[in-house]
Order: sequence, then C-alpha cells, then structure tokens
Amino acid sequence: MANPMQFLEIPRQDPDKKPAEVRIHEFKEIYGQFKAESAQRQAGRCLACGNPYCEWKCPVHNYIPNWLKLLAEGNLFAAAEMSHKTNSLPEVCGRVCPQDRLCEGACTLNDGFGAVTIGSIERYITDEALKAGWRPDLSHVTATDKKVAIVGAGPAGLGCADILARNGVKAVVYDRYPEIGGLLTFGIPSFKLEKEVVRTRRMLLEEMGVEFRLNTEIGRDHPLQSLLDEYDAVFLGMGTYTYMKGGFPGEALHGVHEALPFLVANANRELGFEKTPEEFIDLAGQRVVVLGGGDTAMDCNRTAIRQGATSVTCAYRRDEDNMPGSRREVANAREEGVAFLFNRQPVEIVGNGHVEGVKTVTTRLGEPDERGRRRPVPIPGSEEIIPADRVIVAFGFRPSPAAWLDEHRVALHPDGRVQTTANRHSFQTTNDKLFAGGDMVRGSDLVVTAVFEGREAAQGILDYLDI
Ligand code: FAD
Ligand code: SF4
Repeated sequence: MANPMQFLEIPRQDPDKKPAEVRIHEFKEIYGQFKAESAQRQAGRCLACGNPYCEWKCPVHNYIPNWLKLLAEGNLFAAAEMSHKTNSLPEVCGRVCPQDRLCEGACTLNDGFGAVTIGSIERYITDEALKAGWRPDLSHVTATDKKVAIVGAGPAGLGCADILARNGVKAVVYDRYPEIGGLLTFGIPSFKLEKEVVRTRRMLLEEMGVEFRLNTEIGRDHPLQSLLDEYDAVFLGMGTYTYMKGGFPGEALHGVHEALPFLVANANRELGFEKTPEEFIDLAGQRVVVLGGGDTAMDCNRTAIRQGATSVTCAYRRDEDNMPGSRREVANAREEGVAFLFNRQPVEIVGNGHVEGVKTVTTRLGEPDERGRRRPVPIPGSEEIIPADRVIVAFGFRPSPAAWLDEHRVALHPDGRVQTTANRHSFQTTNDKLFAGGDMVRGSDLVVTAVFEGREAAQGILDYLDI
C-alpha cells in the first residue's frame, strides 16, 4: 500500500444510503455501491497491522488485509479470487453480516479513526469482478467419481457445495423451496439483500457443476434412505424452523402472525411464487405491533412499513443497549418510522376474536442469567395496553429436527440440535455417512457461521471419502 498512514487523511466513508422517504416505498437495497476510486481509497485505509484482529473475528477468517491490498492496488480479479478462498458467499456476507460486532468491530482503526469499511468492500469486490467477467478459477480441478447429496440450499448447503465442486466432487442440492438461498431468499427481505444477488450465485454454482433439485422435500418426496443409497455421503443443512412462542394468552387471536410466515408470504409475492392471494399477510392501513428485538423483528418492522402500515411499534423487554439486533438495522428501522418501546414485556394479546392490543408491563434489568444477559424484571402495577390491529411475534427459532433423523441414528442434543463430533471427521454426525452444519447444528445464528460450517463439513466429507 502506498501510504500506510492514509487513514489519517482519508476518513471512513460508507456507500451512499437512500433517504428514508424514498426507501420505504420499495423493496430494494438501501445502500449504493462504491465508485471504483472510493473503493480503492477506502481499501487503502487498512493499516495492515501485524495482528489482523478483523481476520480472527470474522467467522470464516477471511484474508481481509490481503484482499484490501489487492483492491487498493487496482487488482480486482485477484482480490475476488482471494476473497473466495475463505468465503463461498462474500457478496452476501458483505451485505448482511453484523460487521459492527465482527470484522469492523475488531478493526484497529475502530478506535476513534473509523473502522475500514470491510463489509461494503467485500461486497464491492465480488459484485464488480463478476460484472467485469471474472469467474471462479476451477482450471486446476480434476473430477473424481464421487457424488454427494446436500439437503437444504441455504448458506450452509451452498458453502458445502462450493467446496465439494472445487475438489471435483459432484454436489446435488435438494430443497423444498422453488429457489435456492434458504433464509437468504425467503427470510431476509430485499431491502437488505436483493434476490438477484442470490440468483447470480446460483448461476455461478451451476457453472461450477453444482446441480439443484428444487421443490423437493426430503422425507416427503424422497426418503433420506434413497439419498444414502445413491450418494457417497449426504450433508444436511436444513436450518431451524420451530417458532418460539411467548406463552401468554391471546397468541391464537385473529390478526396475530408469526414472523417467518409473514416474511415468506411477502417474499413469495415479490418473487412470483404466491400460490393464492390469501397467503399474503397484508398490513396496509393497520396499526402493527412487533414483539421482539432481534434481526427478524427489525425485518418485520421494516416490511410492515413498506406494506403501508399506519403505525409500526416495536416492543422489546430489555433496553436498547441489550437488544440482540444489529445496531445498523435498529437505526435503519428508526429512520424509516418505527417507534420503539424498550423495557416492555408483553403479558397478553387482548381482543375479542380479533387483536385489539398488546398488554405489556414495564421492566427493569435485574441479575444476569446463565448466558450473562441481565434478566428483565417486571415492575408491579406498570401494565398498559398498546392498541394494535395486527401483532407480529418475532421471538426467534428453536431447532426443528426431522423425525426421520432418529431412524438414521443421528443423535441430537437435548435442545434438538444435531450432534456433530469433533474427534472424527469435521461435522460428521453419529451416522458416518451423514454430515450436518449451519443453524440445525449451532441453533439460529448468522449467514456467515452457516457458510463456515458448510465449508468445514465439506472438508470432513473429503476426508471421509479419502479425496
Ligand atoms: P437456512 O437458511 O434456513 O436454509 C435451510 C434450507 O433447508 C431451506 O432452504 C429449507 O427449505 C431447506 N430444507 C429444510 N428441510 C428440508 C427438507 N426436508 N428437504 C429439502 N429441503 C429442506 N443472518 C445474518 O447473518 N444477517 C442477517 O441480517 C440475518 N437476518 C435474518 C433475518 C431473518 C428474518 C431470519 C429468519 C434470519 C436472519 N439471519 C441473518 C440468520 C440467517 O439467515 C441464518 O442463520 C442462515 O440462513 C442459516 O443458514 P442454514 O443454511 O443453516 O439454514
Ligand atoms: Fe466481515 Fe462478515 Fe465479511 Fe467476515 S464475512 S469479513 S465478518 S462482513
């Protein structure tokens, strides 16, 4: 890099963000792309400090300073090749990772100077390299006679397919949905990740020899046994889909919706996959209360705003500092008109057949729980009712292990996550031929951790197959 002290002259700059009054009318990404010169200047701010904390904090351990240097020197294609050495979906992670908690939070410059814009640059490198004609270099790959079935085309399954294809193994990916991506396509809304990005990745993987068999549910359309008979190994990346309940009265009232069906219905309409108009959950003209404080709650808040809700209120039982959602997404939701009520714990959804409001109590933060998070303690006599026509419950997800896992001797943890044993092949289950990764192994988490586990499981499969 020309001048290692460049960060003193060039401040951190994020790509332009559309004004809130424009973006609330569309399901499009809200951040623009750097121009080539800005991307190079921002990449040049990297200090190349001897101990790259960013790399360690990044769950896939991206070679961040290396690809920043390549880009700063104008070597876009080499940067893209380098970026794909550790990450199967860099253009996606650059968009949706909570960088403030991961790479950028650990950047040495995040101490008054402004962290390097790692996420936006990661996304820039792949987006722009692809536009300029770059494709992953598989010229050195020799095909083997091995083939592996992958159940689930989410980030874990795609990470696994990528590594297998790069090692000459035929990967065939099954998914019950009509498009690949898992929650990238049917959970995370387009204002964070436009679906064209996922379609482009599908094209790339298909060019690499990965085959997708969509609209196919394993356990219903094909038994798992047929995959075990036909393939040399099977990877399971099926996610977590049991919705957490509040456990208070009124959750069955008309007008109360779970977060994911609401988001999936919205995505289906946008993508043209809606089977009947009744599937769509229309919040136009409604007073909406969203319960929860994570990324899913933020996505529901902002989707409700875009659908034309008259008001959107997000009630969360701890304070703002203790919200699990990304700071960036909370700020974006606020800019778009979401009202936040902190320290409010729902105790009942009230109404007569249909929702009329949410009864909450005010809380204060008490002693830490077993995970170190301070418990919300209700303040007696603080009940109030927030008026609402619709309530979205966004309390997160628990594992949803398929019943047939047991038939195939796949051991589970007591909470339903699949056990993978570290002392055998990486991410191998208790059935030697079955590997697993992503949310179904670690519980609901992040895109980047699912990618990591899919890639690691692929390495385990390669070891198992002696490749
Ligand atoms: P999934 O993405 O859930 O994919 C599993 C796939 O398996 C699905 O396509 C499913 O159809 C398929 N499948 C399941 N069972 C079968 C079967 N029997 N047969 C065939 N196919 C099957 N993470 C971030 O990093 N940043 C974010 O901003 C972010 N926002 C989120 C917003 C929402 C609303 C949600 C719900 C999650 C969000 N996450 C975010 C979390 C992230 O999306 C997940 O951690 C990640 O997608 C998990 O990847 P996965 O491959 O394990 O599972
Ligand atoms: Fe940062 Fe996520 Fe990219 Fe890693 S994958 S460098 S954590 S944005």
